[in-house]
Amino acid sequence: MEYGWSETGNIKYKEIKMKEISSSEFEQEVLQGGKVVLDFYSTECPPCEAVAPKFESLAGMYGHEIKFVKMYRQANRELSDKLGVKSSPTLLFFDNGKEVTERLAGGIKRSEIINNLNALLPAESITKITGKIKPLVSEYDVIVLGGGPGGLTAGLYLCQAKINTVLVDISLPGGHVSTTHEVSNYPGFIDPQAGYMLSHNMSEQTKLCGTVFKVAVDVTKVDLINKTVVVDEFETIHAKRIIIATGTTPNLTGAKGERELKGKGISYCATCDAKYFVDKEVIVIGGGNSAVEESDFIAKFASKVTIIHQFAAFTANKTAIEKLLANPKIHPIFLHEPRSFKKVGDQMVVEVEDLTTKEIKTIGGDGVFIFIGMKPNLGLFTDKLELDQWGYIKTDDEMRTSIPDIYAVGDVISKKYRQITTAVADGTIAAISIAKDLD
Ligand SMILES: Cc1cc2nc3c(=O)[nH]c(=O)nc-3n(C[C@H](O)[C@H](O)[C@H](O)COP(=O)(O)OP(=O)(O)OC[C@H]3O[C@@H](n4cnc5c(N)ncnc54)[C@H](O)[C@@H]3O)c2cc1C
Repeated sequence: MEYGWSETGNIKYKEIKMKEISSSEFEQEVLQGGKVVLDFYSTECPPCEAVAPKFESLAGMYGHEIKFVKMYRQANRELSDKLGVKSSPTLLFFDNGKEVTERLAGGIKRSEIINNLNALLPAESITKITGKIKPLVSEYDVIVLGGGPGGLTAGLYLCQAKINTVLVDISLPGGHVSTTHEVSNYPGFIDPQAGYMLSHNMSEQTKLCGTVFKVAVDVTKVDLINKTVVVDEFETIHAKRIIIATGTTPNLTGAKGERELKGKGISYCATCDAKYFVDKEVIVIGGGNSAVEESDFIAKFASKVTIIHQFAAFTANKTAIEKLLANPKIHPIFLHEPRSFKKVGDQMVVEVEDLTTKEIKTIGGDGVFIFIGMKPNLGLFTDKLELDQWGYIKTDDEMRTSIPDIYAVGDVISKKYRQITTAVADGTIAAISIAKDLD
């Protein structure tokens, strides 16, 4: 690792050039003593891109006490399989050659990494490192919370209207589009577009215009009344208006073992992880649009895709269902629900209940993907926003919420159809409305 001093905001970090290692260096770099954190990453993996800037900034803070290394999983499959790394990214923490603390996988928060790093260090080192962080305050006209299509479009229109705007996202920008393998219904493209490219282009367009991006951060507090957002615990952002564009999150089945096996056999992102199941058997839970489309994608890699669905038929669009059922690799099991997930050796074992006979059966596979619907991302908002009966934010026709100067757009709002085009339309409307207000 190379060291040097640099300024990031008003925090003085040691600038660490993180080392990329291969399997042959694992013994030397990781197991030969000392405190080490190892990031197994993949390409075309939005969660890996989201964790990378956090990992790098933390290397700057902790790098003189803990060694930060990363390894390209696709090129080091044998070692990653041997270590039981089943999804990307996965962070492993070592102390004196032994793996310690819980592994972190999937959409990893900065605070989760900090907790694990702190667990490796004595209290005085932690105090010294955290003591270097000084609070930062910034002012903008508008804060856009969430960088999916809704937030990115709002950011673009605001920027083009010369409104000083910051876009804050807990992940990399792109939202659900970045993890959708193909988008064929976004106007302007003759051929289907890879989701990550479409979201990348949307994001670059907004960023190049001049909207400030603060992405892959922890949003630690949101005060909608005072229009204040706290990022990574030390940066307070004030604005005249806030646009909530935080989208939705996949529902969990609630079955035993799901949380524990998330990222260790259970995945919610086919784009990220389907490529690791070439000629393997995969179990998919769900039967709506996402489950049907993503199963079709997984079947390009896997030898068999068993789909467990609680109803008697899929509830997706007819063309997609017909295409899926014509694929000999697809094996639907209707009227069944998962009750538990277990890992036995390298195999995933799912206990399912036959909803007709109540009989419990077990189904084995190499991996599990879950696609069972969404819930709105509103957990951070303690102020009382008016919601509909399903918990989505109510807005007027200019995207204003029940709280003055707070707007909401995209999948998080109460509406009938949640699509990229509808999120983009909401973002446009909110931005034009705010630009007129602030003029
Ligand atoms: C698997 C799948 C396939 C799909 N395929 C299509 C398709 O082919 N065509 C189509 O039109 N639509 C499709 N959709 C729907 C479409 O992706 C969504 O309607 C659209 O992305 C909604 O955009 P959004 O900006 O509202 O939210 P999202 O895309 O959900 O983005 C929300 C953003 O907010 C961020 N965020 C969350 N919480 C916070 C917080 N507290 N603070 C800051 N940021 C936060 C998230 O990280 C994310 O980047 C698909 C959806 C899925 C899940």
